Amino acid sequence: MQFINSWQRELPGFYTSLSPTPLAGGRLFYHNAPLASELELDEALFAGDGHGVWSGRALLPGMAPLAQVYSGHQFGVWAGQLGDGRGLLLGEQQLTNGRRVDWHLKGAGLTPYSRMGDGRAVIRSSVREFLASEALHHLGIPTTRALALAVGDEPVQRETRERGAMLMRIAESHLRFGHFEHFYYGGEQEKVRQLADYAIRHHWPQLQEEADRYLLWFTDVVQRTARLIALWQSVGFAHGVMNTDNMSILGLTLDYGPYGFLDDYQPDFICNHSDYQGRYSFENQPMIGLWNLNRLAHALSGLLTTEQLKQALAQYEPELMRVWGEKMRARLGLLTADASDNTILTGLLTLMTQERSDYTLTFRLLSETQQQEARSPLRDEFIDRDAFDRWYAQYRQRLLQEQVSDEARQAVMKAANPALVLRNYLAQQVIDDVEQGNTAALEKLHLALQQPFSDAAVSAELRQRPPEWGKTLEVSCSS
Ligand code: AMP
Ligand code: MG
Repeated sequence: MQFINSWQRELPGFYTSLSPTPLAGGRLFYHNAPLASELELDEALFAGDGHGVWSGRALLPGMAPLAQVYSGHQFGVWAGQLGDGRGLLLGEQQLTNGRRVDWHLKGAGLTPYSRMGDGRAVIRSSVREFLASEALHHLGIPTTRALALAVGDEPVQRETRERGAMLMRIAESHLRFGHFEHFYYGGEQEKVRQLADYAIRHHWPQLQEEADRYLLWFTDVVQRTARLIALWQSVGFAHGVMNTDNMSILGLTLDYGPYGFLDDYQPDFICNHSDYQGRYSFENQPMIGLWNLNRLAHALSGLLTTEQLKQALAQYEPELMRVWGEKMRARLGLLTADASDNTILTGLLTLMTQERSDYTLTFRLLSETQQQEARSPLRDEFIDRDAFDRWYAQYRQRLLQEQVSDEARQAVMKAANPALVLRNYLAQQVIDDVEQGNTAALEKLHLALQQPFSDAAVSAELRQRPPEWGKTLEVSCSS
């Protein structure tokens, strides 16, 4: 295991050095074995408490941990300095294949940026982040990862008293839009440039020698953000707190809080109970992504002209529509593009909204369609059969245009329509079990989330729509 600390060495003035505050009674509870192996880690590290690194008692060899400083726009308003209020960058691991990843310990105690917070994370929020980052990763969506979960006995006050936990988060970088905003609004133009140079040097090295490297870089940030949000929309994922401090420059899903996957197809779904205006509702995410990029563009106005910023931002919508279109066509089993596709998709989504159909189950069942059959496997799921029949006739007609066997089309659809998404109630069942000190439910769900498209790997139990209690779970920012 080789660690470096480029942030510490190359960016003085961008952080405060400090060590984690160990979690009382903290011990390793669960780890992500497949990720550990990807990171070339020895399983011995996870025996016992692995030298204490998972619960903040030990540091990475030769590394001095640090809290990064950043700011951001929260719910549309400039919020000023935020910073790592409860997470520390422990070090950056250099892998033999050239990849480099941050090790970030979330819930590591107070920092100079903790403001009113206690610097801690609880079991509930840490398990939710663990599961969701695994879920998204295996659905093919860029995200930070979760390597290890430590739990403690320390009481942590939220709405109720909960128990403290720590999550070891892994990411190619934790660079946020808010990092750039921090120095721009602080009037430190030179630091904005220094940070952009750092980002390019470490994460876009191929652009280093280009004369218009800032434009190429920002254009790529715009396109990565567009792709990320297109993928969220396609699987029915709502992030819940798309503040600019939670937006990754690398286009990763970052900072899991009150997120939610759609159960019923409900475009105006608001997963975050603190989001009274619905700013971050499911259907608003594409627009908010662009709003956030506009804030980033503003912070980069010392590096690029207004014309250049506009040129890059103009890439957002076409890229988002391209990827979303590609994904939704696959969900419908359309292997070619046709002008009527949008009508077919909108027709189905409108019906699903009216009927409050389950987003995941509906598309999975649609994957069973036999083009020769005049009767759809989905028909019985709809109350308004006439409306469904009209839509299905159109859909079947469209399928006829493609010279594809049912088997080939079904294979494409089953690889695009997951059998499993991380519904809130599934996460809650695991949290309840972990709070009792058990790993069984976590292990079982974690395993299934690694193969969300596989009929064999996803049991019937995990596919169920939420029970009554699972429809009304409240999740909010305080985690
Ligand atoms: P979030 O919306 O969870 O990404 O958090 C927004 C800001 O609040 C970030 O600067 C966090 O570091 C900070 N924060 C959240 N929870 C806590 C906490 N319990 N203690 C200290 N800071 C926190
Ligand atoms: Mg955050």
